[in-house]
Amino acid sequence: MIDLHTHTTASDGSLTPAQLVAAAQKAGLKAVAVTDHDTVAGLDEALAAGRGLALEVVPGVEISLEVGLAGGAHLLGLWVRPNHPALLAGLARVQEARRRRNPLILAKLNGLGLALDMAEVNAQAGGGQVGRPHIAMALAAKGYAANQGEAFNRWLKAGGPAYVAKERLSPAQGIGLVRAAGGVPVLAHPGLLDLDRPGLEALARRLRAVGLEGLEAYYSEHDAATQRGLASLAARLGLVLSGGSDFHGEGKQRIRLGTGKGGLRVPASLLTALKQRRELIRKEAEDA
Ligand SMILES: [Zn+2]
Ligand SMILES: [Zn+2]
Repeated sequence: MIDLHTHTTASDGSLTPAQLVAAAQKAGLKAVAVTDHDTVAGLDEALAAGRGLALEVVPGVEISLEVGLAGGAHLLGLWVRPNHPALLAGLARVQEARRRRNPLILAKLNGLGLALDMAEVNAQAGGGQVGRPHIAMALAAKGYAANQGEAFNRWLKAGGPAYVAKERLSPAQGIGLVRAAGGVPVLAHPGLLDLDRPGLEALARRLRAVGLEGLEAYYSEHDAATQRGLASLAARLGLVLSGGSDFHGEGKQRIRLGTGKGGLRVPASLLTALKQRRELIRKEAEDA
């Protein structure tokens, strides 16, 4: 089994990249992808930790795309070159937009009578990127909400009173960055998108037209019917399948590395088709 979707302390996960690789080995996985939000900062450490192990560490990233939906759509880039200049520059722009966004959210909260400053928010982050999850934790820590989820629902969610729209990359920009860095672009957790079947198919076609190669059919929150539907959609569109848990850390959620909520099984055989796409993308880049 493999797990091609995990987070570390480089974004909002609770294990360091090295700890994550150790946990993946302990879980008996054949491959694990590190796919932090908008950053490749954890990849060198993860790759170094994987050296000499039977476990394959896949350097990856997860990027939000603007597709006209409230939460955006998440794109995984698998096997990106960690220090690729165009990818680093693109992610730096995304991170800068996120940094500009936090003070705007705090200003809205302050306007609603909630006293919270950036230092209190930063204190909730482990030194990595700071965003809404940390603002939600800070609100809970100050007693404005019972927990992070309540803080999200009352103020921070899309359309909420302290919501500030996120600047996101267009599908062509995000997918282009992943491909330029030699990675395979895969639409993450399609089952979580607020779309019906025809809507999802239309989105997948739109993304495929700008270079999407795969769908994350196997996912902690996908039931068997969703998984089957995505596999058949992928087959119809000539896309390959991927799968992962979206693990964020031990004890933090009910999602476990490799097995998700318990029933997730992502077959290692998916690696073959994904790697074929990777080789085509890299050949294309060399020929260009
Ligand atoms: Zn995601
Ligand atoms: Zn994720």
